[in-house]
Amino acid sequence: MKMIHKQMLAEMKNKEIFEKAVHEGNKYLSEIFDRNVFPTEEALNELKKFEEPMPKDGIDANAIIEFLATYGAPATVAQVAGRYYGFVNGGVVPVGLAVKIMTSFWDQNTPLYLTSPIASKLETIVEKWLIDLFNLPKNSVAGFVSGTSMATLCGLAAARWRIYRRLNYDLEGEGLQNAPKIRIVVGLQAHGTVVKALNLLGFGSKQIEKVEVTPQGQIQVDKIPKLDERTILILQAGNVNSGAFDDFSRICEKARKANAWVHIDGAFGLWTACSSRLDSLTNGIELANSWSLDGHKTLNTPYDNGIILCNDEEALISALHTSGAYINRSAHRDGMNFTPEMSRRGRIMELWAIFKYLGRKGIDELIYGFHKCALQFSEKIAEIEGYEVLNQVVFNQVLVRCKTNEITKKTLKKIQDLRECWVGGTEWMGKDAIRVSFCSWATTAEDIRKAINSFKIALSSSQL
Ligand SMILES: *Cc1c(COP(=O)(O)O)cnc(C)c1O
Repeated sequence: MKMIHKQMLAEMKNKEIFEKAVHEGNKYLSEIFDRNVFPTEEALNELKKFEEPMPKDGIDANAIIEFLATYGAPATVAQVAGRYYGFVNGGVVPVGLAVKIMTSFWDQNTPLYLTSPIASKLETIVEKWLIDLFNLPKNSVAGFVSGTSMATLCGLAAARWRIYRRLNYDLEGEGLQNAPKIRIVVGLQAHGTVVKALNLLGFGSKQIEKVEVTPQGQIQVDKIPKLDERTILILQAGNVNSGAFDDFSRICEKARKANAWVHIDGAFGLWTACSSRLDSLTNGIELANSWSLDGHKTLNTPYDNGIILCNDEEALISALHTSGAYINRSAHRDGMNFTPEMSRRGRIMELWAIFKYLGRKGIDELIYGFHKCALQFSEKIAEIEGYEVLNQVVFNQVLVRCKTNEITKKTLKKIQDLRECWVGGTEWMGKDAIRVSFCSWATTAEDIRKAINSFKIALSSSQL
């Protein structure tokens, strides 16, 4: 151990490896905008180089960085550049990346004010900014988690806690096995992570009351069953395929009257509330009780960055602590009260930096920019004989289909093989489709032109 200690101390002090790491990172950025989006077969083959038994003796730090840069970087997917349209994955705002690099040196653990006063301060500030940006009730609180999956889990846990409290049922003491029934109402197009969160919280998928949806994937308001005070209703701001939004105003008013809890899964779509030209999509969101969203999708923060917002501080804090006791807020914010984890990295610093960099105007421009890309792409692709756009492009998602399932699948594979852009496949209303998601600030009109070209080449080759 003595030897290792001496070596590590030298590495910390002479900083050579940090310079090397930043140098390699910069080199990556210089190349990635023009590189193939998905790794080449050759690069994927080279991943074999990582296969080895757990080493007995360690090796030099410089050599490790070099090895990872040589064989790891080529096997990355070019998500930081402008031609990745897969899933709903965001790019990265440069200042967010820079802050991530700088604050990596700080390696803060952020559960408490006492472990990181700066993180505690920034969480307090960003919480206020978020409430302001989304026009939420002033008593709302925020927890900073790894992503929307975790945020949804937190929101639904808060809902469960509040409902059991109303029913005078001691959930922490008695547990779930003999608990009174809570009703769960979701749309048929709810994201898979919503069902996962429900399962983790002890709600079986067969117990979920599923509401029929419109051809765009929105909950049909008149098909919602009668709501009551023991119901959790989960809505969606941005369908992961079509980008569609539920009718929050009408649904939330119904829910309010019935005293049901409404959670909104707004992973990428909630941010439309910050764009003056798109904000009608989110009318009424302020009437819900909890909201989950991502920084790492449409806001283009580095991974991993998710947010839970909740208008019931007592429920959120109590639900996330096994003691069940409401934790007194000290003069300073202890971030762990609002999240399931204790130790966490300082992801708040990247979120803060990006808000400060973009401001309201910049966020509006960023979010509306995705819509413009989606419109441009959908108009161009619809002009090509053999392609059809399946959804109303209300935000950033475009669903494209060829004449048959078979041609759609073949074309998709060909587009992926070309590596000029990357898009994924999905199923929409029982048919195979190609999903194109515009989610990176880096995408330009030229990038979209290249994508269209790729789609053209792929379609003609799969029709041969
Ligand atoms: C991506 C997504 C999620 C899951 O978010 P993660 O950040 O990946 O955990 C949930 N809901 C919707 C609508 C999404 O698009």
